[in-house]
Amino acid sequence: MSRVALVTGGTRGIGKAISIALKEAGYTVAANYGGNDEAAAAFKAETGIEVFKFDVGNFEACAAGVADIEKSVGPVDVLVNNAGITRDAMLHKLTPEAWQEVIRTDLDSVFNMSKLLIDGMRERSSGRIISITSINGQKGQMGQTNYSAAKAGVIGFTKALAQETARKGITVNCVAPGYIDTDMMAAVPQKALDGIIATIPVGRLGTAEEIAHCVIFLADEKASFVTGATITANGAQYIAG
Ligand code: NDP
Repeated sequence: MSRVALVTGGTRGIGKAISIALKEAGYTVAANYGGNDEAAAAFKAETGIEVFKFDVGNFEACAAGVADIEKSVGPVDVLVNNAGITRDAMLHKLTPEAWQEVIRTDLDSVFNMSKLLIDGMRERSSGRIISITSINGQKGQMGQTNYSAAKAGVIGFTKALAQETARKGITVNCVAPGYIDTDMMAAVPQKALDGIIATIPVGRLGTAEEIAHCVIFLADEKASFVTGATITANGAQYIAG
């Protein structure tokens, strides 16, 4: 029987590439999304992957979503916490709402989904939890106190949970992308984008497929000694120690 993978925010951008790569690698994939029904329907038609709509920032919604998914495709072996948003502003202009929205969606979501799936993984003594953090959680980014805090929090969560689950055959890791060509980047003005590309030694944005490749490596049963790690994929823009 093929292993089951659940990708949050799995219908667009990096998540879409991860869902497709996992399917191509032989996994049965369930893709979650938050609100864009049109993109989800197009993704489902293109890939044949089942889609499940729920807000990853809401624990009760996640519980209902996980129950639906497990009923449909069986117990989840690989959780990919990919869903994320930005709400950028300098702190003196950042509203409490924009702070909360990013913390809920980018950090609480990782707790919600991992918490709901950890018992099953512990019972089966196997599992993979892979979370998509960010270069800006590693180095901090002006205008992103909310996003940098959430993404740094994901790395800390990963290091702690990796230790808790190490004896249980469950690995917990992060992938930290640099700047990747997705809808999220479409929000960045061209002038700012040119400035960003100038700081990437590889000389271009990354692709969603390059991030998906890192996830495939971590999801593999053979990656069993890699846990608590953050794989950095950023074209040498920031080399974390
Ligand atoms: P996109 O904006 O292209 O896609 C985001 C996905 O997350 C969509 O499927 C969206 O669903 C889903 N999503 C958003 N909010 C929720 C929610 N509350 N509940 C469920 N699903 C939700 O983002 P990217 O592909 O660019 O980013 C993916 C991840 O990679 C994020 O965690 C991001 O922070 C991280 N990242 C991205 C970088 C980049 O340069 N693009 C760089 C570093 C990290 P819907 O379609 O319904 O809106």
